[in-house]
Amino acid sequence: MTTRIAIIGGGTGGLCLAQGLRKAGLDIAVYERSRTRTERLQGYRVHINPHGAAALHECLPPGLWQRFLATTGATGGNFTFVTEQLRDLMVIDSELTYSPDPASNHHSVSRISLHQVLSDGLDGILHHGKEFVGYRREGDVVVCEFADGSTVEADLVIGADGANSRIRKQFLPGAARVDTGIIAIAGKYPLDEETRKRLPARLTDGPSMVMPRTGAGLFSAPHELNGASSVNDETAEHDPVLFDNTSSYVMWAFAADNRRYPAGISSLDGEALRKLVLDLIDGWDPAFKELVSGSPAESVSRLPIFTSTPVDPWPTSNVTLLGDAIHSMTPFRGIGANTALRDAQLLCRNLIAARKTGDVRTAVADYEQRMREYGFAAVRDSERSARQFVSENRVGRTMARGMFRFFQAVPPLKRKAFSDHGDS
Ligand SMILES: Cc1cc2nc3c(=O)[nH]c(=O)nc-3n(C[C@H](O)[C@H](O)[C@H](O)COP(=O)(O)OP(=O)(O)OC[C@H]3O[C@@H](n4cnc5c(N)ncnc54)[C@H](O)[C@@H]3O)c2cc1C
Repeated sequence: MTTRIAIIGGGTGGLCLAQGLRKAGLDIAVYERSRTRTERLQGYRVHINPHGAAALHECLPPGLWQRFLATTGATGGNFTFVTEQLRDLMVIDSELTYSPDPASNHHSVSRISLHQVLSDGLDGILHHGKEFVGYRREGDVVVCEFADGSTVEADLVIGADGANSRIRKQFLPGAARVDTGIIAIAGKYPLDEETRKRLPARLTDGPSMVMPRTGAGLFSAPHELNGASSVNDETAEHDPVLFDNTSSYVMWAFAADNRRYPAGISSLDGEALRKLVLDLIDGWDPAFKELVSGSPAESVSRLPIFTSTPVDPWPTSNVTLLGDAIHSMTPFRGIGANTALRDAQLLCRNLIAARKTGDVRTAVADYEQRMREYGFAAVRDSERSARQFVSENRVGRTMARGMFRFFQAVPPLKRKAFSDHGDS
């Protein structure tokens, strides 16, 4: 008998899994609540690391993998830690993390392009406008219920419905999503011939992490199309600043503990948020002011930072979880999507192998055990990075800056310590 698999959520992880299972000929369907791409932050770039690249390479059909590669932006730049005066603390040369094999390399991709690639060829499998509201078990079958009153029966249900997962709330009600108390404000600086001249090469050539003496940080990363074949979709017509997928830009995110911000920050619009960041970076190098003030107000938004707490093992059943639905993490290491892709790859492999053994339960149990291990390790790492990013500890920050300068002065040590930078 064929296992009917329902994936709830057509985001990064759910769609990658669907692609892999479809390629292997399994009986799957994806149920996605959105009708259009309206989530504000979908306009930003996503850094795909070697875990994510390997997952995409394995799950996508060869033609789509090539299309993914064709949509990625240039990633040649060095990753630099700088002071707020734009002085280098440490430069991680791109050669240190470069792999000639695209399936184990780093990539910069627009979230929209990634979504377009992942959705391709899923006609009849990916169902839009299907908001999952709950499930019930009837014998060995799981019945999924949707907001439009419809239901779907499946032998295995995979919750890939993101950080506010409805399935997680029902399946693992004790699994908590936790506010870190950190708030990021992010924006996009459009890069064209004119604006490019106004920024120093340090900010247009590669990602930078700004480490002032205390209390806040700023991350910036260029997304350079350089001939990448990105296309707009219908959403770009309504909201070109956020959703134009065909122009280069530098994305930036300033972050600090919420005590650093005024009380009414949640009601501020893009213009007021931009002004607030300009006040908070007063005294920094003028390049950062240009970066922030030159970003259209409509591209600037507030992002409260959440994490999750490790979940004890649960009895494996015919419902499981993947990606942010189980291990949501702060965006500070750029590994949430990569971990969701890694989940998709592992679960896909296991389910394909279970076709021979007929033992789906063991396949899911093995996936869950390994996913909990690397998934919550990633959660821990990304929370640690978030706390360091906004640290108020002046002594600690001075030591960190000193340590980066030391590594910069001793290249072999730097190579040893940072050769896997950005991988996990
Ligand atoms: C500003 C920012 C920058 C980031 N940058 C990076 C980066 O560079 N690299 C990286 O690895 N990660 C990055 N991340 C994290 C990354 O975006 C997430 O970890 C990743 O998208 C998680 O994938 P997912 O498939 O688990 O969930 P999602 O991609 O969020 O997908 C969940 C899907 O489920 C759907 N859904 C939700 N509820 C329901 C429901 N009830 N019924 C049906 N469908 C539903 C949603 O509409 C969505 O399509 C970043 C995050 C942010 C906020």
